[in-house]
Amino acid sequence: MRRPAGRPRPEVQNAGSGPVRTCVGCGSRRQQAELTRFVIGPGGAIEVDRKRRLPGRGAYLCGAGCLTAALKRKAFGRAFRGKAGQVDPSQLGQAWEQGDGERRGAGGSGC
Ligand SMILES: [Zn+2]
Repeated sequence: MRRPAGRPRPEVQNAGSGPVRTCVGCGSRRQQAELTRFVIGPGGAIEVDRKRRLPGRGAYLCGAGCLTAALKRKAFGRAFRGKAGQVDPSQLGQAWEQGDGERRGAGGSGC
C-alpha cells in the first residue's frame, strides 16, 4: 500500500487512445474500454455500468479476480467515498457475468 501523499497526477500515457483508469482491485492502469465500470445505484447498491454512461462516481475493475480483491480491500468504500451500501459479492459477481457475456472466451488469467 504505497500511496503518494501529494495529489495524484493523472498522466496521459496513451494519448489518443482513450482515457486510462485504475483498477480498484489490482491497481493496474488500463484503457477505460478494457475495464468494467461500477456505479452506486439508488439505495447505495453497487451496479455494473456496462455502457459506462451512468452518472456519478465510478469504480473500475479489469477482471473477475479483481472483484474479490477489491472487496477484500474495501476498495469500493473508498472509491465511492463511503456512499456504497452493503456489498453483496455474489450479486455483484452475477451482474458481472451478465455484463461480460459479450467478451467471453478472452481468457481472464492475466490479472
Ligand atoms: Zn485489476
